[in-house]
Amino acid sequence: KPFLKTRFMGRTGEYHNLIGSTNDRAKELAVMGVPEGFLVSANGQTTGRGRLGRSWASPVGQGLYFSIILYPNLPPVELPKLTLLAGLALGQAVENLGVEAKIKWPNDLLIKGKKVAGILTEMSAEAERTIFAVVGVGINIEPLNERESFSYPATFLKEHVAIVSRLKLLASFLGYFEEQYELFKKGEFARILKEYEKRLAFRGEEVKIISGSHEYSGRLSGLADDGALIIQDGFTTRRFAAGEISLRRK
Ligand code: ATP
Repeated sequence: KPFLKTRFMGRTGEYHNLIGSTNDRAKELAVMGVPEGFLVSANGQTTGRGRLGRSWASPVGQGLYFSIILYPNLPPVELPKLTLLAGLALGQAVENLGVEAKIKWPNDLLIKGKKVAGILTEMSAEAERTIFAVVGVGINIEPLNERESFSYPATFLKEHVAIVSRLKLLASFLGYFEEQYELFKKGEFARILKEYEKRLAFRGEEVKIISGSHEYSGRLSGLADDGALIIQDGFTTRRFAAGEISLRRK
């Protein structure tokens, strides 16, 4: 709390040593109507998740795992933008530690090309109305167990900075995230996107997009106004919405 300078983000919350998944707990609490910005944080998760039901390794003490409950008054199609807002805030919080970070669109943070954090946004919607959204974040801090191997190379903050205060890192993320969320609500998404794009990984490089059983290759040229990824393959331009696709450097 002494580090926290937000108006509502993380002002209320609960803390767990070990939990199933902070996103699952946050969804239960959202249904109960806890205040906006409510934070569920944990030292470890037994069933931490990434996208597409993939698992997120979350052993106790190895990282920071938390979820934030929001009630954005937005149509569900706009919600992937929240992932971009959180990605930017996460990048800013890590840069605040003096480390350069890049965002692997849409939801992962990289340091020196390795994954240090991930974001999972989930929501509940009825017809065209969003009831709540849960933005979950997992940050690797220090490797305690034997190193697991993932689909993508992983790294830990302590491999890049000597001292990491979990509390300060969380407070700094919450500060940036609140700032981005307020801007977003004021219709300033274009400004957010510009900041996000500055940190976009693989920009101008040859990449591969894996979408189910399909694969597309091309040069990553940037982002569209709505945050979609633009890939240029010869004379063909393809756009990918922040759905269930995986991005790889070629
Ligand atoms: P990918 O990382 O393969 O491009 P993605 O962005 O969809 O795909 P996420 O859903 O964000 O990945 O994260 C889940 C994946 O991240 C898992 O399949 C696993 O390979 C990897 N992973 C799991 N736990 C960690 C962790 N603690 N640190 C880094 N990577 C992890």
